[in-house]
Formats: sequence, structure tokens, C-alpha cells
Amino acid sequence: MLRFAVLGHPVAHSLSPAMHAFALESLGLEGRYEAWETPLEALPGRLKEVRRAFRGVNLTLPLKEAALAHLDWASPEAQRIGAVNTALQVEGRLFGFNTDAPGFLEALKAGGIPLKGPALVLGAGGAGRAVAFALKEAGLEVWVWNRTPKRALALAEEFGLRAVPLEKAKEARLLVNATSVGLGDPGATPLPPELLPEEGAAVDLVYRPLWTRFLREAKERGLKVQTGLPMLAWQGALAFRIWTGLLPDPSGMEEAALRALGV
Ligand code: NDP
Repeated sequence: MLRFAVLGHPVAHSLSPAMHAFALESLGLEGRYEAWETPLEALPGRLKEVRRAFRGVNLTLPLKEAALAHLDWASPEAQRIGAVNTALQVEGRLFGFNTDAPGFLEALKAGGIPLKGPALVLGAGGAGRAVAFALKEAGLEVWVWNRTPKRALALAEEFGLRAVPLEKAKEARLLVNATSVGLGDPGATPLPPELLPEEGAAVDLVYRPLWTRFLREAKERGLKVQTGLPMLAWQGALAFRIWTGLLPDPSGMEEAALRALGV
């Protein structure tokens, strides 16, 4: 039987078990995908167990960066982003990948969000790094803003981007909220609405609540919008393909996530 898990802390409310249960069932595979509570200090012990008994795992906060040091191999993309969200076990060896970056791009394409810059990424944490990397690789002009400016400057220098003040949002054609602002708070937004551009698109990586204030205000302004769920579904589908060679239907995974969210 195929065994998978998401490791992180906290993971009790992760949508990944629901999405991957759909993936397994829709492809007629027998397997199990669990959520394993794993604080940072428990990571080495957990990975020993993974090497022994799991086909693969997803890694989430706070493990994505730390996991790199425990793998036998990491893809060039995961190394450049500095984070791994998917590990594959083969003969006791662990191979690491980052499917957040390609998952983000696939979700944009599937949702008809034009890949048109300049793109402004709000946030320079793990998700911000993956998104900025993906957009730069896709050939867009990428700007980055972060609450703590020195993190934005460091990311800009590393990836060849521009660190900008928040006011530049007005000139962007693609806005991405990769901060955690709005998470669990429908009244919070990283961007004052008067700084929204007149045209373009806005994507929020936050999906709890699904319709964040940032997205609601962008929609009211007339921008094309996308919630965080398509990216979540795509990063999961791409991880599943790494583990099994089979690509589950990302729309079905998204619907499973929606049901688990209770929306
Ligand atoms: P990190 O902890 O690595 O980064 C958090 C980011 O949010 C930093 O840029 C931080 O800025 C910023 N931030 C936090 N609080 C504030 C605030 N009050 N005002 C402005 N900025 C703030 O988290 P991740 O990058 O891993 O995740 C970010 C979000 O993206 C989370 O909500 C996560 O759930 C979501 N996500 C969604 C995915 C999807 O598939 N849809 C995939 C991955 C993540 P500073 O540097 O100043 O602290």
C-alpha cells in the first residue's frame, strides 16, 4: 500500500489529506495520506520513519527550509528557492522538490490569469520566494515588497528583481499576496485599497478565508482574481505525479479541498 503524509506544525487542519484521498481514489490506487504533527525538532526522527515506510511526503510550515539539509538530493529549483515542499523516497533515499513554484504558474494558466507584468509579490517569506522565482523564470518583470525591507532587498538581489515601496502596486499588472496577512482575519489586507491598480489581476495565496479582503477589494476594482486554492491543488497534483508518475485532476483536488474547508 502506498503511504504518504504531510509533515508540519500545526497540520491538524491541513487540506492535503482530503485532496490526496481524492487523488488516490480517482486513479484507483490503494493508499493512505496522513497528517503528521511534526515540530522542527522532531523532523530528523520523522524523516527516518519516512525513509523506511513512506513513498513520499509533503512538507509545510515550519519545515520547508530546514528539510533541505536532511535530504540526499534536492532539485536545482528547490535549492535556488531554498525550500522543499515534496520529498520522494526511493530505496531509503530522499529526493526533494519544490512544487509550489510550478503549481503557482499552472494555477494561473488554468484560471486564465494573464502572465503579464510587472508583477508585484507582497511578501518575501517562503511562499514569496517560490512565487517570485516562478514569475521571474516565466520571463516577467518582478517587483517585491516586504514588511521587513531588508528581506525584500536580499531576495531582489538574489533573484535579480526589484525591491519596491508598496505604492508601486498601482503600476503593477499582477499582484500576488504571499504574506500571511488575511489568514484567519477577513478584515485584514496587506494593501490599502487605494493602491490597487486600475487593471490587471490579483492572486491571494491565503485560502482561509477563501475570499480575503484583498481579493474582495481587487474584484470590486474590476481586477481578475484567483484564490489560494488552485495553487494548493496544483502543488498537490504535481507532488502526486512525482510520487506515482500519474497526474490527478487538479480541479477534483480543488473541489475536495473546498469540501474540507466547509465552503
Ligand atoms: P512565512 O512565515 O515564510 O512568511 C510570512 C510573510 O508574511 C513574510 O513576508 C512576513 O513579513 C509577512 N507578514 C506576516 N505578518 C505581516 C503583517 N502583519 N504585515 C505585513 N506582512 C506580514 O510564510 P509563507 O511564506 O510560508 O506563507 C505565507 C502565506 O502563504 C501563508 O498564509 C500560507 O498559508 C500561504 N501559502 C499558500 C500556499 C498555497 O498553495 N495557496 C502555498 C504556500 C503558502 P516579514 O518578513 O516582515 O515578517
